[in-house]
Amino acid sequence: MQFNSDRLTYYFTTLCEIDSPSKGESKLSSYLQDLFNDLGADLVFEDDSSRVTGSDCGNFVARFAGTRRDVSPLFFNCHLDVIKPCLGVKVCKINDIFYSAGDTVLGADDKAGIAILIEVLIAIILENIPFVPVEFVFTTCEEIGLLGAKAFDPSLLVAKYGYSLDSTGIDNVIIGAPASYGISVEIHGLASHAGLRPLHGINAIQLAAHAVSRLPLGQIDGETTANIGLITGGTATNIIPDYVCADGEVRSHNLSKLYSTLDLFKKTFQDVVSSWHDPYDLITSRPSLGFSFSEQYPLMKLEPDSLPVVRTRHAASSLSRSLRFIQAGGGSDANFFNAYGLPTAILGIGMENVHSVSENIKLSDMLRTAELVYSILTS
Ligand SMILES: [Zn+2]
Repeated sequence: MQFNSDRLTYYFTTLCEIDSPSKGESKLSSYLQDLFNDLGADLVFEDDSSRVTGSDCGNFVARFAGTRRDVSPLFFNCHLDVIKPCLGVKVCKINDIFYSAGDTVLGADDKAGIAILIEVLIAIILENIPFVPVEFVFTTCEEIGLLGAKAFDPSLLVAKYGYSLDSTGIDNVIIGAPASYGISVEIHGLASHAGLRPLHGINAIQLAAHAVSRLPLGQIDGETTANIGLITGGTATNIIPDYVCADGEVRSHNLSKLYSTLDLFKKTFQDVVSSWHDPYDLITSRPSLGFSFSEQYPLMKLEPDSLPVVRTRHAASSLSRSLRFIQAGGGSDANFFNAYGLPTAILGIGMENVHSVSENIKLSDMLRTAELVYSILTS
């Protein structure tokens, strides 16, 4: 298939230059819903997830019945929102590479994915190529905790498996991503004047420091990472702090390792707080601990014989292309789609330096991804 570079450039630039911060995706959503209707979608509908996410619009789905009705439906997913700073993006292109012209991100994450889908769809329609039943699923608020995907009702889709176009690198297929749990720790000590009554306080920050220094942090093993990333506490330099809050996370590709790491974190804080003692017997109270954790996103793990993997292998071999099937270190919408029982692989689309103002993407890489998407849709 010969794709139209000018058309792809036009749509990519247009999408990037429509503001779509997290919770403010409605302008981009309206533009795309109109476009998919114009391209002959059989159904375009928006869900009611905005009530949960706080966005000014819901997720939306564009469904095409396709002309290869013998093949089971599949879906492609991208997110509509862009990480900050993302208002007033101006795209510039130097040779083959798109950059942001200003002090914003480019927004290739994830508008390159959307532009690729549009170009492939237009090419298929114009050339009258038979294609499989497909749904395009666009989510809100991915960048602030996968909120749109988390609030998505999977029964809205007829497709039972799919792809997210939302990763760096090219010819990469992400087939696994960790689960992540957030941790929140609160330690209550006892306030006292640090200069006048130094023996009458319980320093909550010092207790937290003792505990944190004993935790395994960073890369714990080949599958598990942990971090304490926020510490808040204290009121003044001359007051022994009676409160500290520490927030962190544990991620793992292995749930039993994840849970045992959470247990270890909890036990470490409990041991430090419960072993506190007052050497002068002046204080009648004791420090206390609050420890809580909650799932941020679920595990993603695709089997080698799962539908998206098999179909991607087939599509790549028809292009005489070899792909790398790899694990990711972070979560994305695909974690939730997989947890919903919809096997979903993530395709690398070539974007680089994402989440920074030096974000960029090559036109040639977008065209390369378009070939793979085209092959998945038509083979
Ligand atoms: Zn993304």
